[in-house]
Amino acid sequence: MSEILPRTIAIVGTGVAGTTAALTLRKEGFGGRIVLIGDEPEEPYQRPPLSKNMLRHSARPEAARLKPTSTWAEQDIELLTGTKVTGLDADALRLADGSQLPYDRLLLATGGRARTLPQAVGLDHVHTLRTLGDVAALRADLQPGGPLLVVGAGLVGLEVAATARAMGCQVTVLESSLQPLGRVLPARLRQEVMELHRAHGVRIHTDVRLERLDRHGDTLVATDHEGTLWEAQTVLVAVGMTPETTLARQAGLDLADGIVVDAYGTTSAPHIYAAGDVACHPDAILRQRVRIEQWNHAQEHGAAVAVNMLPGNHRPYDAVPWGWTNQYGVNLQICGHPAQADELIVQGGLTDFDFAAAAYRSGRLIGGIAAGRPVDFRALRRLVAEHSRDDGLLTAETDRGACP
Ligand SMILES: Cc1cc2nc3c(=O)[nH]c(=O)nc-3n(C[C@H](O)[C@H](O)[C@H](O)COP(=O)(O)OP(=O)(O)OC[C@H]3O[C@@H](n4cnc5c(N)ncnc54)[C@H](O)[C@@H]3O)c2cc1C
Repeated sequence: MSEILPRTIAIVGTGVAGTTAALTLRKEGFGGRIVLIGDEPEEPYQRPPLSKNMLRHSARPEAARLKPTSTWAEQDIELLTGTKVTGLDADALRLADGSQLPYDRLLLATGGRARTLPQAVGLDHVHTLRTLGDVAALRADLQPGGPLLVVGAGLVGLEVAATARAMGCQVTVLESSLQPLGRVLPARLRQEVMELHRAHGVRIHTDVRLERLDRHGDTLVATDHEGTLWEAQTVLVAVGMTPETTLARQAGLDLADGIVVDAYGTTSAPHIYAAGDVACHPDAILRQRVRIEQWNHAQEHGAAVAVNMLPGNHRPYDAVPWGWTNQYGVNLQICGHPAQADELIVQGGLTDFDFAAAAYRSGRLIGGIAAGRPVDFRALRRLVAEHSRDDGLLTAETDRGACP
């Protein structure tokens, strides 16, 4: 890597990864030009409240702002909102208005877009949820007593189900697999979460695959793979997100599930980096590349990669990823990769969501989960981190980014 101090660092993406990277560059003493570019019209904001407080109480953008408006000028960061980057050359970005922005180093923090289903395209009152615009539209459609159909029982789908119940909606959830939250929780807990929703009046049906979605007058009608019909006034399609790799693809960067980076956040082009939800990075616990969709991970990864963008720094990212979900007042905290565990050692009660659980795979600690026990959760995170370091998992191999 060249050790010449870059003059201009461009960052594409005003999510938490991109904004944290910009602020970290200044904190680390970078005195050059920082341009932070995002295609969303709003100032940088937080996504986690979109399925929780903002859906229930207020869809005003100010409520979710990531930093005070004055921050960007104070930090001498050029913030370009409502600006799509349409092209990526080796030393310049092309912007939607036809202008060019030269850069020396570039961070792609482009996150992802909500996935939808072909059956849902073009239908009114059918939503996805990723942006502030999405939450305003969904909120406008949710009426107390009104039926909401949620397609997909992942974190976003279930959080919206819980919020919509609190708003008095009748909620039905359809999930194509046998249990909800398959990518997040170990099997024992998936069942408990499903029961939690049922106890709050959500009709949750698993092993149901959506075949069609049609409008009949004021009613949306979903048809599943067995021909069963499900009616609603509003539908949320919550079937995950697709990493936004358009620019990386154009530039010929290595892609897998997201943009492939090494332990320093470097892509296959040495002066281009990627961080946050879009980056597929070596994981110190699993010894393979993973792409993580968690707020704290995106923040910590953005900061770590920014440090490595500056000359003389070479610090591998080995933080234990962690996130949380809030449903019906239960705050579930998750670290590492507990969904991949084959053994769960639990202290406390899973059913009443007052527990801390250590997740093992083949005898190795690979993650932890806790509800209502923040102190235990912090201890679990420390333990998981210590185990991955003791195991020497950040080897020279992962360090070079040569893991699968
Ligand atoms: C509804 C919802 C609830 C969530 N709740 C939780 C939670 O409770 N706990 C938790 O841990 N995580 C939660 N998450 C996940 C968390 O919000 C994400 O992991 C995090 O926001 C990812 O940040 P990021 O900066 O990597 O990407 P993003 O936030 O996706 O930001 C990327 C930005 O780049 C922009 N962009 C992309 N391409 C271009 C381009 N060509 N030109 C200009 N701009 C571009 C995008 O429009 C976007 O603004 C939630 C996510 C959602 C959607």
